[in-house]
Amino acid sequence: MGKEKIILTGDRPTGRLHIGHYVGSLKRRVDLQNAGDYSKMFIFIADSQALTDNIDNPEKVRQNVIEVALDYLACGIDPTKATIFIQSQIPELCELSFYYMDLVSVSRLQRNPTVKSEIQMRNFEASIPVGFFTYPISQAADITAFRATTVPVGEDQEPMIEQAREIVRRFNYIYGETLVEPEILLPDNAACLRLPGTDGKAKMSKSLGNCIYLSEEPEEIQKKIMSMYTDPGHLRVQDPGKIEGNTVFTYLDAFCLPEHFERYLPDYPNLAELKAHYQRGGLGDVKVKRFLNSIMQEILEPIRNRRKEFSKDIPAIYDMLQKGCEVARATAADTLADVKKAMKINYF
Ligand code: ATP
Ligand code: MG
Repeated sequence: MGKEKIILTGDRPTGRLHIGHYVGSLKRRVDLQNAGDYSKMFIFIADSQALTDNIDNPEKVRQNVIEVALDYLACGIDPTKATIFIQSQIPELCELSFYYMDLVSVSRLQRNPTVKSEIQMRNFEASIPVGFFTYPISQAADITAFRATTVPVGEDQEPMIEQAREIVRRFNYIYGETLVEPEILLPDNAACLRLPGTDGKAKMSKSLGNCIYLSEEPEEIQKKIMSMYTDPGHLRVQDPGKIEGNTVFTYLDAFCLPEHFERYLPDYPNLAELKAHYQRGGLGDVKVKRFLNSIMQEILEPIRNRRKEFSKDIPAIYDMLQKGCEVARATAADTLADVKKAMKINYF
């Protein structure tokens, strides 16, 4: 029998999930779940992690645990197939992090590009909370506790997974083969690796307020799309326009399917032709934005409707999460026992 495939991913409950999460990670999880191409799938809501940069705002984190759970269910994550749990309810993760801390140097953490850019994004340069700084270590605990082989995430997480792999190798080298080395599973579409924000900034992120949320109402989606960043040099319809760095086209790369042309823009056979026309000149931003709006409305409508249905019974969501936490905790406890045995700290 080949190595069993165990999937693990999570999200920070710092806001509702957005279309960047959808193409960067969520959609992949749903596809993997439906293909049944794995033996276990764990999905966690990283509330302890979210508190590291929201320590004075616990209510925000608490509320968003439910929002994120609703987003999961709305996208089609099925709690009978995936274990959905809340990070803070698994104390074994803290214990694992504590032991992993001795396997990582401060300078290695400082070099982690994700840590660097997230610190910059939050203006933390002068005073970084230690808990935030050690984020890659706790993430390594999250991944290894569930013996995850596969972590489907966006490109921003690549340095995190690399650091987790280093911790696993170091641990196994010192204490003997105990932990499983995880692999990252990136989106196969380049536009989905790191979806830019509607403002054209490098990454759509809850913390930057440049998002289209999965729960967004139709009018709001349209408003955000119609005011999206395009090519600032494309002033008149007849001017040649740029595709590179043009957020509307990046979104089309991420979301547009051939059938969308038949439905909403039959004068063009495909995206390549639409791009060519824009580059030549003679195609206005408004037309392209309207096309993108039709596509996004079509994708988000069923998600929004399912979300509304699930939100009618919040106690049922808490029940589902509690069950998930019990399953997750048993698995993490198993791994922790292996770790302590390997480290010779199992006395009784
Ligand atoms: P925060 O600003 O609180 O960090 P976030 O919007 O960056 O929130 P996370 O919870 O940090 O979201 O990320 C969860 C998952 O979604 C990760 O797998 C990450 O790679 C993916 N992801 C987040 N934003 C994007 C994006 N813009 N494009 C592609 N993937 C993304
Ligand atoms: Mg993030």
